[in-house]
Amino acid sequence: MPSGAFAERGADLELVGIQKRFPGFTAIENLDLAIPAGSFFALLGPSGCGKTTTLRLVAGLEEPSKGRILIGGQDVTDTKSFQRPVNTVFQSYALFPHMTILENVAFGLRRRKIGDAVGRAHEALCLVELDHLAARKPQQLSGGQQQRVALARAIVNRPALLLLDEPLGALDLKLRRQMQLELKTIQEEVGLTFLHVTHDQDEAMTMADTVAVMNKGQIEQMGAPEQLYELPETAFVANFLGQSNLFTGSVVATSGDAISVDVAGHRIVVPMSRARRHSGNVTIGVRPEKLTLHHEVPLVDSARNTVGPGRVIDVSFSGVSTQYLVAVPGAGTIVVFAQNMEFGPVAHVGGEVWVSWNVEHGFGLADDPV
Ligand code: ATP
Repeated sequence: MPSGAFAERGADLELVGIQKRFPGFTAIENLDLAIPAGSFFALLGPSGCGKTTTLRLVAGLEEPSKGRILIGGQDVTDTKSFQRPVNTVFQSYALFPHMTILENVAFGLRRRKIGDAVGRAHEALCLVELDHLAARKPQQLSGGQQQRVALARAIVNRPALLLLDEPLGALDLKLRRQMQLELKTIQEEVGLTFLHVTHDQDEAMTMADTVAVMNKGQIEQMGAPEQLYELPETAFVANFLGQSNLFTGSVVATSGDAISVDVAGHRIVVPMSRARRHSGNVTIGVRPEKLTLHHEVPLVDSARNTVGPGRVIDVSFSGVSTQYLVAVPGAGTIVVFAQNMEFGPVAHVGGEVWVSWNVEHGFGLADDPV
């Protein structure tokens, strides 16, 4: 794929055995990643896990210590940054203050002597719904509008691969949410491959079709947002993508399709297909919104797990739902989210409760909480 070419569609990206060492520090350790063409892919992880370094390697702004980088099937590991079919949108989007919005967007095309720069720039501005402000200067635009110009400036080049490094980080929450949806729509319209880096799990899950959760320079788990949320494989993923209740115990029985785990006297069943380990000590989990509170011990039901009795130690109201903390001897403190369907809380601090959930909602991890 020659540099400067206008991609009709996105290219796939492959990272093979990538390692990146800085003096005295290994930021990326043996990273393998395959991103299909035309996908909206999010690299999600906490600060310092190596997201930006990965992006800089793909852009050609850093050289890998080991491994190969392929874009559209071509090895670009030794290709200069400006010759790669890649554009990057950063959190700080330096627009030229003395140029109009239109000139800012057309700038790169004009420099590369690409025909109809103005027409193409208008098209890109229409895509981000800013064409009506084409004659303004950057300082006459809001932060969110400037960010959209930065996006138009990247898209106008039609890179086969667009890299987004926390591009919404500087925006306030409401604008950020709006831009997340807009970015997703734009990606669907242009069909290019987007690689988006963020530490915000809501952002990754809202926008991306595939999310890779990164921790300490490695990918812990990769998949569709629902899959990662519903079936986390490690304690890190279970806790990084929302909240989880984790219990550690030992497997005491195995039937054909489920394991029974003893957690300090509480018997918890997890479907075999949702458990990563099937014997010995295991950690199992369930999301807080899958739980139901009961004021009396529920009737025995083989389709549900029940833990209790416990005491409610905290109730906090947050609009759509209320969070209950329930201390259960042997099982620790369990977090329960209940939708606020009625007026007032369903349990009060000090109340005795049992907690139950559908067996099908539990999951078993491949590791233990650290
Ligand atoms: P953030 O969300 O805070 O930007 P990140 O996940 O993008 O974090 P990176 O910027 O990729 O993290 O950094 C990964 C690790 O590599 C960090 O510990 C960082 O301190 C280290 N690092 C990055 N660049 C260099 C460098 N040039 N020299 C030495 N160490 C570096």
